[in-house]
Amino acid sequence: MEIVVSGTRPTGHIHLGNYFGAVKNFVELQHEAQCFFFVADYHSLTTHPNPDDLHDNVRIILSEYLACGLDPEKSTVYVQSDIPEVAELYLILNMFAHKGELERATTFKDKVAKQEKNINAGLLTYPVLQAADIVIHKALKVPVGKDQEQHLEMARTFVNRFNHTFGVDYFPEPQAFSYSKELIKVPGLDGASKMSKSAGEQNTISFYEDEKTIRKKIMRAVTDSGPTQPNSTPPQPIENLFNLMALVSTDDVIAHFKQAYADCSIRYGDLKKQLAEDVVAFTTPFKEKIEAIYHDDALIKRVTAEGAAKARASAQQTLRDVREIIGIRPF
Ligand code: AMP
Repeated sequence: MEIVVSGTRPTGHIHLGNYFGAVKNFVELQHEAQCFFFVADYHSLTTHPNPDDLHDNVRIILSEYLACGLDPEKSTVYVQSDIPEVAELYLILNMFAHKGELERATTFKDKVAKQEKNINAGLLTYPVLQAADIVIHKALKVPVGKDQEQHLEMARTFVNRFNHTFGVDYFPEPQAFSYSKELIKVPGLDGASKMSKSAGEQNTISFYEDEKTIRKKIMRAVTDSGPTQPNSTPPQPIENLFNLMALVSTDDVIAHFKQAYADCSIRYGDLKKQLAEDVVAFTTPFKEKIEAIYHDDALIKRVTAEGAAKARASAQQTLRDVREIIGIRPF
């Protein structure tokens, strides 16, 4: 059976980008593959979160992903820091990651620009930790959004170097995966960047947001003064709204607004109202489930304990093999 790994950082509520880029594919894959899903709490330490917030955010991500359909009976759902072998493999893989290639990662360059006062080594080696998360289960498929493509490429480089150095064929090459033809990039509401919390609260639509906030955010999304030529190509901010519609609206609705854009009769207020309506209809059913799971202590405890036991068994086997390969052997 094919092995699949995916994770997300506990930095608040999941948004439409997380769902359509990663979780949706993962939920489908769990019916046909051996799936490991984790909450990447080590990864979130790069920004020095408040300890109580961190703990609560792990619970939030677990609740939201279970509410989205991750089934702990089918998948192994765990918290990254419950698996100390991840930290050991990260240390070992660091020996196969070159400084120059880490510095060239787009995500690192973005962080250098955004948090110039805290450019720690954890940020630089973030893709190595990610590679450890993936290859610790010898995964082949990684359901992620387009933003992670480069990190997957780096993971392949590190494990190929490892294999080559020791003349083994131990780690398989992991590939980014999406059921759609291409990896998905869900746009944010600012007209320019991808949907991401680091681009500001206003840029994202989370699953947990109330109706009023969702409507307000969408009504404020960046647009322009409207098409002046028939059949023109929409500029980025408008294209983004159509791309969001493609995720949550029916084909008829999309066709109607595309036609209105093409013949210059479009009113952006109507488009946004419809989009808000469809986003609210999409997210509302998840909210009650999230709330119930979040407050179900026994469920959260059981899922994380069982997940940790299963994930650790897989990780320990890999570390036993890796230690043997590199010559860390018992006397
Ligand atoms: P993060 O929230 O950065 O930890 O990302 C968790 C998962 O969501 C990763 O697989 C990302 O690729 C995916 N993701 C985050 N933002 C987007 C987006 N705007 N479009 C598509 N996928 C995304």
